Amino acid sequence: MLSDPRRNSFSKQDLKLGSFVKLLVKSKYTIATLGSHSALQILRGGKDEGFRTIVVCKKEHCSVYRHFRVADRVVEIPSYSEFHTAEDELLRENAILVPHASLIAYMSLDAVEKIRVPYYGNRRILLWESDRDRQRKWLEKAGLNLPRVYEDPDEIDGLCIVKFQGAKGGQGYFLARSSEEFRQKIGGLKDYSIQEYVVGIPVYIHYFYSVIRGELELMGFDRRYESNVDAISRIPAGLQEGIDVTYTIVGNFPLFLRESLLPEVFKMGQRVVEASREVCEPGIFGPFCLETVVTPDLKFYVFEISARIVAGTNVFMEGSPYAYLKHGIPMTTGRRIALEIREAIEQGRLEEILG
Ligand code: ADP
Repeated sequence: MLSDPRRNSFSKQDLKLGSFVKLLVKSKYTIATLGSHSALQILRGGKDEGFRTIVVCKKEHCSVYRHFRVADRVVEIPSYSEFHTAEDELLRENAILVPHASLIAYMSLDAVEKIRVPYYGNRRILLWESDRDRQRKWLEKAGLNLPRVYEDPDEIDGLCIVKFQGAKGGQGYFLARSSEEFRQKIGGLKDYSIQEYVVGIPVYIHYFYSVIRGELELMGFDRRYESNVDAISRIPAGLQEGIDVTYTIVGNFPLFLRESLLPEVFKMGQRVVEASREVCEPGIFGPFCLETVVTPDLKFYVFEISARIVAGTNVFMEGSPYAYLKHGIPMTTGRRIALEIREAIEQGRLEEILG
């Protein structure tokens, strides 16, 4: 019961024992991450759960982490691709590495595979996340509504969105209505995928699957602010011609969903976790995000899954309404990760959450 923060009355003995265990945890393990993406949240969350924290970052980014005092140590590296040079240091500090999209984007999957520092999460699931075909198989297995995929540009018979493999934050994505328009816009670009464009409201769902508590939690929702697509409605329709829209992510907004949609949200998350166990043992755990569009008939279409913490969780730096309801304290996704690690250590189950 010690580790259940929802409990609001502790005995004196609990409190004494609680601070002793926290002290032990604090002195033995360190939470580390790469200085980018959601590192402020991850590091702050680590400190809130009593851990020492380390950030590994490029020289020009270090001042941010010093300024916010979220890291007990700042380890400088010349570039993200040289992350491995910090590994011995991290091993000496008994670090547990918390991954995020930038770690994965700036290092190859192969390099992530070779990281020697204990890694929070199932890193093999990244193979399923990064390959569009595999990802689709996984989401189909989970029985989710997915936008149609056009294998051949000649099949295009309605509004579609063209995406690029490894594209960072929606940059360069474009819309087309026909194969002619597609050919005109694609130029010589390769490695694209063509999806039906679902007209609705984008909703990014933040989940957390706890191995230690055996439960799926809802952490919150966000929507994105993208340039220049979110600027187009500020221009009168008659003057929009000739402006090509794209989807470069600039920031995120918090969102509170219609309460009647929550049962479906939980069902989808649960099915994704179950299907992940079939495709990649022991499956997905920790934070993940379903990227959806909700249509006027209130159907969720899932166009992507992120198999780790998403930057949209940063909008809840003081905790989301849902995490507050569940935990009774301002609980960010970063802190939820640290809480999971702390409970795993306290219960001697750390191996179950490293991968
Ligand atoms: P990234 O690969 O950077 O995560 P996304 O796949 O999230 O990019 O897509 C970027 C933008 O395109 C988002 O605003 C999203 O809402 C929109 N989008 C992506 N796929 C679809 C789709 N099938 N239908 C409608 N909008 C989509």
